[in-house]
Amino acid sequence: MDHVERHVERHSLELLLGEHPTTPYGYYSRNKKALVMNIGTGGGTLLHEMVHAMAEADFEDIPSWLNEGLGSLYEASFTIRVA
Ligand SMILES: [Zn+2]
Repeated sequence: MDHVERHVERHSLELLLGEHPTTPYGYYSRNKKALVMNIGTGGGTLLHEMVHAMAEADFEDIPSWLNEGLGSLYEASFTIRVA
């Protein structure tokens, strides 16, 4: 993605959500209840941010250390098929 594309993307997000993304990977917007993803970075970030959305829906005051810990746990998880 070149500089112009990044500028257009950032400006579009600001118009759409009224927020200023601080990361190129993605984030969960608690205010807008929206996932903003750069899916080109892989599925780990998507899982991480989905955990935030689900955790905050059930536990509005979840401590950030627990919320980030859960996100990191699921981001790094994978399945092993056992015969
Ligand atoms: Zn996180």
